[in-house]
Amino acid sequence: MATDDRAFRKHLNRRKELVEGIRNKGIRDNRVLMAIESIPRHLFVDTALEMRAYEDTALPIGNGQTISQPYTVAAQTELLQVNKGDKILEIGTGSGYQSAILCHMGADVYSVERHDKLYQNAKQILKDLGFRANLKLGDGTLGWSAYAPYDGIVVTAGAPVVPEDLVHQLNIGGRLVVPVGNQKSQTMIRIIRVSEDQYEEEHHQNFKFVPLIGEKGWD
Ligand code: SAM
Repeated sequence: MATDDRAFRKHLNRRKELVEGIRNKGIRDNRVLMAIESIPRHLFVDTALEMRAYEDTALPIGNGQTISQPYTVAAQTELLQVNKGDKILEIGTGSGYQSAILCHMGADVYSVERHDKLYQNAKQILKDLGFRANLKLGDGTLGWSAYAPYDGIVVTAGAPVVPEDLVHQLNIGGRLVVPVGNQKSQTMIRIIRVSEDQYEEEHHQNFKFVPLIGEKGWD
């Protein structure tokens, strides 16, 4: 049964405070801030962590993985420049929270996760909240070619290099947002496909993500 409106109203004041904190850290895209205010992050973590869900921090979700810090989700989503109707691919579904943010912003969402339990949990919670994301269990370092090209691709795990398959699955005008570095620190890179064979690359802040593991990632 779908989760009712009460889930969206619960902890609303805490979410508003979280959003103010994120705004003060430099996030300017109001559509991103509205999505963070709207999505009940506490439903994407274990009930034992409910009271910590609106701290601006990453939290464990099982399988040694985390739901990203809300500021990090906001920063990546802002760089993605999501427009309503955009087809967006996420690598690293994790809890499903980032997918929910993208769905709320009107994107057509595709997301790949390598852990079966996380994939199953995310599928259930997104369905309960009434979001129609397309989820797949597999190695996201190869992208999801069946639905390419994408207007945006966001990688929510740290890569050793930019995964080339993802670059090739971008639409012209499409944005790839990917943290690249060693396992201790990664620089957020945005690649924009400006024409069939031309790309622009920008380097943003440093972050710390769990590793992107797969054929075109870490072993
Ligand atoms: N976006 C997630 C959320 O909203 O909860 C946060 C994800 S967590 C920081 C990174 C995720 O990437 C983990 O769930 C991990 O299992 C997944 N991951 C790592 N390598 C992957 C790969 N090659 N393909 C798909 N998922 C991968």
